[in-house]
Amino acid sequence: MSIPLLDLRAQYAPLKEKILAEIAEICDSQRFILGEKVETFERELTAYCRCGAAVGVSSGSDALLIALMAEKLRPGDEIITTPFTFFATVGAIVRAGAKPVFADIDPVTFNIDPAKIADKITPRTRGIIPVHLFGQAADMDPIVELAKAHGLFIIEDACQAIGAEYRGRRVGSFAEYGAFSFFPSKNLGCFGDGGAVSCDTPERAGLLKIYRNHGQSRTYIHEYVGGNFRIDALQAAILSIKLRSLDRWSEARQSNAAVYRELFAAAGLEEEIVPPGVAAYPVRHIYNQFCIRVRHGRRDALKQHLLDSGIGCAVYYPLSLHLQDCFKELGGKPGDFPESEAASREIMALPIFGELAREQLECVVSTIAKFYGK
Ligand SMILES: *Cc1c(COP(=O)(O)O)cnc(C)c1O
Repeated sequence: MSIPLLDLRAQYAPLKEKILAEIAEICDSQRFILGEKVETFERELTAYCRCGAAVGVSSGSDALLIALMAEKLRPGDEIITTPFTFFATVGAIVRAGAKPVFADIDPVTFNIDPAKIADKITPRTRGIIPVHLFGQAADMDPIVELAKAHGLFIIEDACQAIGAEYRGRRVGSFAEYGAFSFFPSKNLGCFGDGGAVSCDTPERAGLLKIYRNHGQSRTYIHEYVGGNFRIDALQAAILSIKLRSLDRWSEARQSNAAVYRELFAAAGLEEEIVPPGVAAYPVRHIYNQFCIRVRHGRRDALKQHLLDSGIGCAVYYPLSLHLQDCFKELGGKPGDFPESEAASREIMALPIFGELAREQLECVVSTIAKFYGK
């Protein structure tokens, strides 16, 4: 049995006709940039995230960047974030001209540990970017409290977590900004690159819309240096259609996760495999990824065994960001962030997409059990 890490074709099939009709309509209109389709999607996303407003942009990476640009950072400004995330979180900070400062993660959730943030705050700190990694919310209450006490802004990196909840509230609604990605492999994916920024007020959304369009407040009058961070009408129209199914898809991922937990418990692998940790606070985990820890230094061998057996798997992320060559100037050394480094050695993502059948999940777990001779 060959099982891919992700296969989007089954998700597309029932929506195909609707989507192709929308694409045909936009092609007939020849209106491709921003416009009514984008405004409609922005309203729907605002309602879905239960936030103040939302602005469609060109990608999740640009969502992070545009939020930082709107804060008008100056050289030497510091932004605190996690070293265990996709590169774009930290890349955006450097692109915006600020300095990333890392705080280590909580080993259970893989998310930034609020207790480790306080030590990192200096007079130059301007903001915090917590990441809701793999679809599970970071511990927002203490982060919001710290930000309030020190006058810092927060950008939630919700690129993997659309629809995830923390204590009953949706991610992207806790702070000044939330960044979303619609890269095809995210729970809500478009047909190319796309993203959005959620924010707390319509005023902030207005400013982001100016930045999205080269800082142009009126035609050819540029108030700021922004960029081309616009989203296409085609992507927005596709996202509007797909958004209606998102909760169902996320629920299918949740039930696959529950099946995996049951199968791992029954397989007697507790010495070898740690299923994804669940936060101590109430969450709605949307399982963009189902990431296990592989103990005793056997992660790479198990990964090869699964790939050889036709089972898709991947390592998110193999190198803690403080150890990346391009961030050498920040002075990161091995041992600086032990939890992040341990996660990068042990973590492995298994197929979790909603259309997987129970037999396929059983096959994944029995192939792992076989690796251990069980
Ligand atoms: C995907 C992702 C991004 C970037 O999104 P793109 O749309 O690919 O630019 C940023 N942060 C995290 C945590 C992500 O997973």
